[in-house]
Formats: sequence, C-alpha cells, structure tokens
Amino acid sequence: SYASLHSTSFNDFLLKDPIRKAITEAGFEQPSEVQNTSIPHALLGQDLIVQGKSGLGKTAVFVLSILNQLVDYDKKSVACIVLAHTRELALQISREFARFSTHLPTIRTMVVTGGVPIKQQTRLLMSGEPQIIVGTPGRTAELVQKKYIDVSSVRHFVVDECDKIVSSSSDIFKKDLDTIFSACPEEKQVMMFTATLPEDALTVCKSYMKDPREVKVDDQSKLRLDGLLQHFKDLKPEGKNRALVTLLDTLPFSQLVIFVSSVPRCKALSRMLADMEYKVETMHSHMSQSERVRRFDAFKAGACRILVATELFARGVDVKAVNIVVNYDMPKDSDTYLHRVGRAGRFGTKGLAISFVCNEEEKKVLKEVQERFVVEIKELPDKIDTSTY
Ligand code: ADP
Ligand code: MG
Repeated sequence: SYASLHSTSFNDFLLKDPIRKAITEAGFEQPSEVQNTSIPHALLGQDLIVQGKSGLGKTAVFVLSILNQLVDYDKKSVACIVLAHTRELALQISREFARFSTHLPTIRTMVVTGGVPIKQQTRLLMSGEPQIIVGTPGRTAELVQKKYIDVSSVRHFVVDECDKIVSSSSDIFKKDLDTIFSACPEEKQVMMFTATLPEDALTVCKSYMKDPREVKVDDQSKLRLDGLLQHFKDLKPEGKNRALVTLLDTLPFSQLVIFVSSVPRCKALSRMLADMEYKVETMHSHMSQSERVRRFDAFKAGACRILVATELFARGVDVKAVNIVVNYDMPKDSDTYLHRVGRAGRFGTKGLAISFVCNEEEKKVLKEVQERFVVEIKELPDKIDTSTY
C-alpha cells in the first residue's frame, strides 16, 4: 500500500551492499514514510527522535542505519546499545538486527534481559563478544555497572518506546537508562522512538541528545489508524462473555488478541474459554520471563489462534497474523488503546478492533480515542462485512 504513496526506493539511501542485499531478502520493497524521513539523517550519525504510529517500521530505521555504519567495524567490542522496556520487544528487535546482518558475518547481536541467570549471561557475553546489545534497562544497567559489558566503544545508543522508559511512572527505568548512558562515551549517536510522546517526555528525551532531528510522521492529532476498522459494543459487564463467544464463533480471523485489565481476569477468562474448548494462549505479567517468551513464540508461530493478554503484550510487539483485537476491558486511556489496537492491521494491512464499553468512564475513553485519531467508532453491527478487515 505504500508503493502508491512513496516513489522512493531503498536504493535511494545508498546503503552498502550487505545491507541492501538483506533488505531485498527480507522482502521490503518500499520504505515507509517514517523510514523515508528518518533514515537519511540516521545514516549520517545524527541524533534522532522519531514519533510515529505503531506498525510503520520504526525498528528498521535504527537497525538499518546502525548496521550500515557498522559494515566495516571489525572490533569485538560493543558498538551499539538498544534499550527496550520488555523482554519480548528486546527479542523482536534483536531478530531484526539478525535478519539485516546476515551478510555481516562479524557483527553479532545479543539480548540481555532479566529472567535469565546473570552468570549464564555474563558467560555468553564473554564468549559471544557481541557488537550490538539489545537489553531491558534493569539487567543491562546491572551488567554495565559490574563491568561485564564494556561500553567504552559504544557509538550508537537507541531507546525504543522511549516514553515508557523516561516517563515519571517508571523511575527505575530512567535511573537504569542514566546509569548505562553516562557510562558510555560522550560522543555517540542517540536515537529514540515512540508512537506517542507527551511534551514533558519529549523534553526529557531531548536532554540526552545533541541537536536532534525531530521526526513526527503525523501530527499527534492526526495520528491515524489506517486500515483499521473500529467498533464498540455497549453492554453490561455480565454480558461480556456471551458477546465475546459470539464474536469468536461468527467472525472469521487468522489470529485474535483479547485484552483484559488484570492478571486475575486474564487467568479467569482463559480458563473459561479453555473450558469451552477454545484453544487459547495466555500471557500476563505474573508469568516467568521464559514462560512468556515460550508462549509468545508459540502464538507467533501460529500454535493457536486466540491470545488472552494483559497490557504487557500491548506495546511494540508485532505479530503479523493478528487481524482482530478485542478490548474485553476498555483501556484506561487513548495511548493504551493505540498500542493495543496497533497489534491488528500492522503495516498497512487491514484489521478490526472491537471494544466493550460498560460505563461512562469507558465511554469517555472511547470519545477521547475518536477525537484524537479523527475516527468515528460505530456501534458493532449484527453483521460485519468480512472484506473490510
Ligand atoms: P513500529 O516500531 O513503527 O511499530 P515495526 O518496526 O515493528 O513498526 O514494523 C512493523 C512491521 O512492518 C514489521 O513486521 C516489519 O518487518 C514490517 N516492515 C517495516 N518496514 C517495512 C517495509 N519498508 N516494507 C515492508 N515491511 C516493513
Ligand atoms: Mg516499534
């Protein structure tokens, strides 16, 4: 769908051969808008802060531009640190690095996150000698502090979903970020990415950068959820299960994610659906990291078609086959809504989002979403034209 909008090609970026080859093999044909506006600056080593809606390919902006700058890097020291706020997102980013560095045999990427014994990780770090580290803030900071990661050669520093890391509600992340950041050399390229960025978070982000190029793919108010069909269903809380089961039985979907507001609700709903013989996967924050990864990978591989999840799953994680998102519990705000429904209809593909609303507060969020993304969300009709999602 982007071919018609943008006439530029990846060749216009004058990327080096190994990168260009990998892009072709990945099946990327046209750069997306965010890639078009950001990559030329990122390639020059400029600091960058990018705000753009979910699913537009922000990951490739830093992955491609960093790898291109590391083509001739032949040292065994860490040259790049990428921070992500969840293990799932860190793994996904590392896969993008792996995919685009297949023709750079000396470049190695390693993921460092909590949930894995630190001893095991330090051993891997020593033997693996990675040039690129993708990590969660806590574990990365610990390894840097204990000098298991030598950051003295770092020249690229990325924070993905940066508002999540610098926001005041996650003071710990911010402290970890500062620990890692200040241990790195002063001279480095800093890039930060997010789908949403409140003014105060923007100021904090910019304090890490030198004269950053600011890229906004869309004005905040004009953020659009293109290709996504959105509906709501006004019902009583006790009507949710019946409504959900009706949807599962009548709507064709390839994969579907059901979002709930708490871990107990997640467990209970999963159990109920399993009792009714639906094959479901569950993901919530009270699971161990390895359990989460295992389940996420199974879902992504298509082992089952329905996932019941808490907010944990909502940000940054990309599963292509998901084409329906059900807000069994309405999110608390429009940011969360965006991140959740961004799971459906990724990268210009179609999708459907259905939100259950039960009270005035939830209707207020729905109204906020409609104003912010300039969409009209209509009541769920009895029958949906399946060609529209
Ligand atoms: P964001 O971080 O902006 O939410 P992602 O980087 O996760 O988006 O990208 C979403 C999906 O789009 C990924 O599966 C990615 O591989 C794919 N993608 C990114 N850029 C392109 C492109 N130029 N052509 C085709 N697919 C792309
Ligand atoms: Mg992203």
